[in-house]
Amino acid sequence: MAILPIFIPHAGCPHQCVFCNQKTISGQKTAAESGAREQIARWLQWLRPSLSNEAAFYGGSFTALDSGLQERLLLLTDELRERGLIGSVRISTRPDYIDGEKLQLLRRHGVRVVELGVQSLDDKVLQAAGRGHTAADVVKAVELLRDYDFQIGLQLMVGMPLQSFDSLRQSIMQAVRLQPDLARIYPLLVIKDTPLAESWLKGDFQPLSLAEAIRQSAWAYDELTRNGIKVIRVGLQPDDELRAPGNILAGPFHPAMGELVQSFLLRERLTTQLLAVKGAGQIIIRCPYRQESKLRGSRNSNIEYWRQLLAPSQIIIEKADADEITVSAAAVNEKGRRR
Ligand code: SF4
Repeated sequence: MAILPIFIPHAGCPHQCVFCNQKTISGQKTAAESGAREQIARWLQWLRPSLSNEAAFYGGSFTALDSGLQERLLLLTDELRERGLIGSVRISTRPDYIDGEKLQLLRRHGVRVVELGVQSLDDKVLQAAGRGHTAADVVKAVELLRDYDFQIGLQLMVGMPLQSFDSLRQSIMQAVRLQPDLARIYPLLVIKDTPLAESWLKGDFQPLSLAEAIRQSAWAYDELTRNGIKVIRVGLQPDDELRAPGNILAGPFHPAMGELVQSFLLRERLTTQLLAVKGAGQIIIRCPYRQESKLRGSRNSNIEYWRQLLAPSQIIIEKADADEITVSAAAVNEKGRRR
């Protein structure tokens, strides 16, 4: 399955969230329709036809666009569907721009997934971010999307102004109760030319450190996935423009945020098992090949953490043809060899 992202930066969005400079975030500056055509033409150079391929309109707020423009954009993807190049379409939009008429238009044009920019379900946090909608709007939008049988995605943020960890936890638990099909988690970054950048420059806002963003995102990821909600991304897509020097002014950016979060969770889960055998001469972690880098963590950070925690035990990683990670302990002789 391939996803064809088509960015429609800021198009259709009458708001200015404090963190958003959509033109930088999406890396695409041309007008919505011509930009979409250009992007589709680029994708068509390599795309292999498949009904599991999906075109995805990202950036801006699709259902807040003028309805004529929405239709013209969807006609572009209709053509791809008719040629068997893709099977479906997804859009992202704001929760307060959803109604029956808009959803009927989407249904007529093969839209299968609607992702809502929710960010938080705490009204105080939404207001501080200048979102212009409330948590109740999100609940209403989700109910309506479900009535029209769309798959539902929720985009949630970590580290927003006035968002304590407790507020994040409440939002995530509320998101779980809404039972979306999928979610994305975005630690908040300070992007240039945004109201947040001004607050940061004045010293009125401090973004999370990378370590704290990983910890909070990991909690959110774990809570969502344990409740059957697929988390399809953690962290912004690091396109060239976002990463261009001077665009990200501050905040917990890492190009492999998802990997860091999963690695952190693995460390948390394994640490309890490892502590149970603390004191053994050797502690052996048998690990499936595909999980080794996650197990080790970025620059072996997990291994270093366990080495310090479990000293003087020796930590041995054994790669194995196995389905899951297991922990065992062995005694060693005076030369440090396994008995
Ligand atoms: S609603 Fe979306 S596109 Fe509009 S300002 Fe906020 S984040 Fe940016």
